[in-house]
Amino acid sequence: MNAGRYAPSPSGDLHFGNLRTALLAWLFARQSGRAFYLRVEDIDSERSSAESAARQIQDLEALGIDFDPPVVYQSQRSDLYEAALKKLPVYECYCTRRDIREAASAPHAQPGMYPGTCRNLTDAERALRRQELADDHRMPALRLRSSVAEWTVRDFFHGAVTGPVDDVIVRRGGNLNQAQAGDWAYNLAVVVDDGEQGIDQVVRGDDLLMSAPAQAYLAQLLGYAEPEYVHVPLVVNADGKRLAKRDGAVTLREMGLDAAWPELVRSLGCSLGCEGVASARELLEVFDPARVSRRPWVWE
Ligand SMILES: [Zn+2]
Repeated sequence: MNAGRYAPSPSGDLHFGNLRTALLAWLFARQSGRAFYLRVEDIDSERSSAESAARQIQDLEALGIDFDPPVVYQSQRSDLYEAALKKLPVYECYCTRRDIREAASAPHAQPGMYPGTCRNLTDAERALRRQELADDHRMPALRLRSSVAEWTVRDFFHGAVTGPVDDVIVRRGGNLNQAQAGDWAYNLAVVVDDGEQGIDQVVRGDDLLMSAPAQAYLAQLLGYAEPEYVHVPLVVNADGKRLAKRDGAVTLREMGLDAAWPELVRSLGCSLGCEGVASARELLEVFDPARVSRRPWVWE
């Protein structure tokens, strides 16, 4: 079945920018006759809470956004990620954040890209680095051994987007004292979930645009079809910075539905023909993706 999704992290109430992206994802999915799923991205257990997830679901429902069952929680899907990991070429990475920062500042290094420090170590070197980590009560992260340097995806707003693919982390390093493997990396979890849930349309904020090529490559390695991407502009404050809680009353509970709803409708480029649109269902009838601005929506 064809489906779209919205996948928030439950680390606080959704703000106006999140709500706008959720509404856009729902509109794109429902206008094209797709199912629409909610996925709670709670693999980061320290920053996630079940209470926050419940409040987010209430807020989305208050806007008239409906979901097809079931609501999926990433924290309950380790078996799927484990199975996917077995199909991927991976290697251990012993680098600390500082190691990577220092290597990335070397001449000819590509900013933000893993420099490949641990990719071609000998068995003896690996044993040594593994022991050093163990002495520090840590275990290594796992990285994808990528065989391409870049990948191209198609995006509704951005057309063909070619981006770099480096050896992304698929499982983060862990603490030996806790006797458990490290947390699953976002890049692996999102690709496995989209693939397993049959998501063929990914609508999300355009801050994630440049992670799409690596994710599409990962999807291809795992045998999943590549989704259609729709990266939507973010909501920014007057300084051009991404909207955040510090910008004031930005959540639905703070704004109130009566204030938030018309502003959401306006932010979708839906001024003409949308006057008085009172519900998400009505918006579905008149929403035109072509009218959504390619530029960020400025919060006032
Ligand atoms: Zn490394």
